[in-house]
Amino acid sequence: MSFTSLGLSDALLKAVSIQGYSQPSPIQRKAIPLILERKDVLASAQTGTGKTAGFTLPMLQILSQQPALRHRPVRALVLTPTRELAAQVYSNVKDYSAFLDIKSAVIFGGVNQNPQVSALRQGVDILIATPGRLLDLHNQRLLNLNKIEILVLDEADRMLDMGFLRDIKKIMALMPSKRQNLLFSATFSKDIKALANDILNHPVLVEA
Ligand code: AMP
Repeated sequence: MSFTSLGLSDALLKAVSIQGYSQPSPIQRKAIPLILERKDVLASAQTGTGKTAGFTLPMLQILSQQPALRHRPVRALVLTPTRELAAQVYSNVKDYSAFLDIKSAVIFGGVNQNPQVSALRQGVDILIATPGRLLDLHNQRLLNLNKIEILVLDEADRMLDMGFLRDIKKIMALMPSKRQNLLFSATFSKDIKALANDILNHPVLVEA
């Protein structure tokens, strides 16, 4: 199977070919069509399986098909457990959106917030964030989550291991309840299943 048959736009296919990917990985083959159909997805995927492109490519396609809203409120949020993963996802989003009119930004703790705040002020379609800094900026009224259409929890098991459950629940409460939810996790403990139950709406299960 090729990337072309997955239903991705020419702009995304061009970005993918620049990355040198010749064919979609198993998780990409399974997840991309479901996400494009606007399903909630519960995906079991380790790092290295191509999971990031698996959620980023369809997310970019969905957002780029809709006209940008005035002031560009955040429409898609990717939550990650660590700043390293946030930076890595952001870098992938930038690469894959090279030929689209889509803006993205990354926010995480442990660094000065000012550059992150100015990025947000310019309008951002896709935000990649760690939970603590996201809540922090929201509490300072520097960020609005009430136009979120797509939520991705990346490495959800690590987020729970790091004690982010309460933060994740607080963040859920700040978003519209009608949205598409994608949960990626390498392992499926009882806690992950409970979180998935809480967040996902009739999810389709996908394994890498
Ligand atoms: P990830 O699992 O998202 O951390 O991705 C692991 C690595 O695989 C990254 O360096 C990607 O650039 C690369 N990658 C993602 N999709 C593909 C693909 N379809 N073919 C080859 N490499 C890929």
